[in-house]
Amino acid sequence: MLGSLRSIVQQVNTARDLPSALDIIVRRVRDVMQTRVCSVYLRDKHSGNYVLMATEGLNQDAVGKVHMAPGEGLVGNVATREEPINLEHAEAHPAFQYFPATGEERFSAFLGTPIIHHRSVLGVLVVQQAERRRFDEGEEAFLVTLSAQLAGVIAHAEATGALATMGQQRNEAKFSGLAASPGIAIGRAHIVAPPANLATVPFACAMDVDAELALFQQALSAARSEIREVGERLKGELNKEERALFDAYISMLDDSSIAVEVCERIRQKLTASRAWAEVMLEHVRRFEAMSDSYFRDRAADVRDLGARVLMHLRQQEQSQRDYPNNTILIGEELTASVLADVPREKLAGLVSVKGSGNSHVAILARAMGVPAVMGAQDLPWEQVDGVDMIVDGYRGNLHLQPGSELRRHYEAIVAEERELARNLDHLAQLPGETADGHRIRLWVNTGLMADVVRSLERGAEGVGLYRTEVPFLLRDRFPSEEEQREIYREQLEAFAPRPVTMRTLDIGGDKALTYFPIEETNPFLGWRGIRVTLDHPEIFLGQVRAMMKASLGLDNLRIMLPMVTGVSEVEAARKLVDRAYDELLDEGYAIKRPPLGIMIEVPSAVYQARELSKRVDFMSVGSNDLTQYLLAVDRNNSRVASIYHSLHPAVLQALLQVVTACHETSTKVGICGELAGSPGGALLLVAMGYDVLSMNATNLPRVKAALREVNKSDLDRLLQQVLKMESPEQIEEKLQGYLQDLGIGGLMQPQQTETSSDS
Ligand code: PEP
Ligand code: MG
Repeated sequence: MLGSLRSIVQQVNTARDLPSALDIIVRRVRDVMQTRVCSVYLRDKHSGNYVLMATEGLNQDAVGKVHMAPGEGLVGNVATREEPINLEHAEAHPAFQYFPATGEERFSAFLGTPIIHHRSVLGVLVVQQAERRRFDEGEEAFLVTLSAQLAGVIAHAEATGALATMGQQRNEAKFSGLAASPGIAIGRAHIVAPPANLATVPFACAMDVDAELALFQQALSAARSEIREVGERLKGELNKEERALFDAYISMLDDSSIAVEVCERIRQKLTASRAWAEVMLEHVRRFEAMSDSYFRDRAADVRDLGARVLMHLRQQEQSQRDYPNNTILIGEELTASVLADVPREKLAGLVSVKGSGNSHVAILARAMGVPAVMGAQDLPWEQVDGVDMIVDGYRGNLHLQPGSELRRHYEAIVAEERELARNLDHLAQLPGETADGHRIRLWVNTGLMADVVRSLERGAEGVGLYRTEVPFLLRDRFPSEEEQREIYREQLEAFAPRPVTMRTLDIGGDKALTYFPIEETNPFLGWRGIRVTLDHPEIFLGQVRAMMKASLGLDNLRIMLPMVTGVSEVEAARKLVDRAYDELLDEGYAIKRPPLGIMIEVPSAVYQARELSKRVDFMSVGSNDLTQYLLAVDRNNSRVASIYHSLHPAVLQALLQVVTACHETSTKVGICGELAGSPGGALLLVAMGYDVLSMNATNLPRVKAALREVNKSDLDRLLQQVLKMESPEQIEEKLQGYLQDLGIGGLMQPQQTETSSDS
């Protein structure tokens, strides 16, 4: 059964469009389960009714004509109950409804299972049998499993269909994801595709057929010489059969029928890469469907060959591409490094199918003030290259091919945003303090040089977190000590005499260096942060030496260690920092010893905050990771993003515990997670007694504006009320209401986005 299940899902996955996907489902399920009928009903978005969309066994004329409202008939009942209905004699069931058009009087047994995607019922999958018998447990379990697996594929195919109609009729289409970086981007989609995956090559039209044909020939010959070269190099190490594989690759590339097919599609105005991917995928499928296992195994070779040629095609295409103004970057999984590829003045927005608002790329987007939507799982991203679109980073919505009314609506929001920013400009020169004079240090998080100017313009009083991994991510090898010194010097100099907190390299998790890959099943629980650098003292020492050298004559450096889980790590790291400092003194650098601090971002560090605080000069809570580890919610996973709450009562208790422990040992404590940059979160943190709030430069004026409106004594009362609450939703609502009552609800987002943007 598992084999059939896999092969059905695989086949459906490669269908061209929704109708062919549904046809495959009904045909294959009827064969595998040996039933007389298999049908799919899908919910019509406008009427909410379930419509027969495909069938094998019922009259074909009934397709598109049989409708059932939720709760109506057996199908409507499966949908409302959200569970299977398995009947020996369907007609005897009180909900049974007879539709003469289907000819279903001939069938007695009925089994229907709901197709559910993201908690919503997309449709119902039904099998029917002539004789009176109940489908057995195994059959029912098979259909339930299949429906669960097909739900995502159907949702994707539906979305793609909406897009296809959109292309023909110039209709708008809307997709939802997670609001990851606030703001509105109005621009044009530009796909960032992984270089060599045949299945994700965007559908795009060739602008210049001759140029595409030439590109194709160049890629073929580049791949040919590459394969010959590899074959030659490995000659001595391969046996006869393995050598034959290289010959087979070459002869496939020389196979004129493949080349003719590809050229034919290019002439029909497909890009070379799309044409090549389509033809090769068809060959892969042909091999996969063969009954002989030898030929089935060859499918992998064909795929590999396809990927090689594709890589050459993509390389040439990318080198010829220009980013238009207002580029909206779209990819399956955008990473922090893609941000560096597009000139900042051309980058308008970001959209990623995977990831969430807590992923590092989203954090950088917020720091750069670039609107972003992450986790847009149903967006057929491969097909939107060059499409006009709007990214609504406040609500997590994407509007493709927006009409003039929608465009005007969003242009008004952009104007409102500008106005809000202008109104906050004057705050840059004013101190971070509450209305009754309680002083709070408002610092910034940085990583890119671009952050520096924005931060200073907005009145940053220091840097609470400089993510040193960002310059590491943007290279193809570790930067040397001298290269690092230069980068760090720029930061320290730009902010001097204000303090700059440099965090030692925090790689691992979702921050992978291409030149230092870490393959792990559970990367967020694996080799991350201080664990990596303590295992590689040469990297750690080089980095802290570079930081300290860079601080020469400025003396505004603070060093901070990420992902600390216990005292032994702090002690080991301190020894290395001391050693580096002594070496530099010996080398003649007259530098001041920088304060050493740690991040509190895992539960063990919360419980040991007191012991840890005695060993360091300052502490800073990383609420992004702390939330992830306390709630056991992967910060990078869009499926669980709705239960990732930094305002969860358990997180607030942990934050309180840390501040209390630090004050007992008179250790200064700050917070540099995203919570500090939300006006509501900042109010609670000030009430708890945090000394420093460090946030992205975009949010700094909003947080300062909120704090300057309130009295510390009122915040203490607010905190007491919030600490009694039992759910994050209640707390979020309370804070929103509190800001609104103060007349500063608009600091969270422009007022217009709260009215319907779906109009
Ligand atoms: C955090 O975890 O809160 C933090 C500031 O570090 P990062 O987001 O870089 O992991
Ligand atoms: Mg962290």
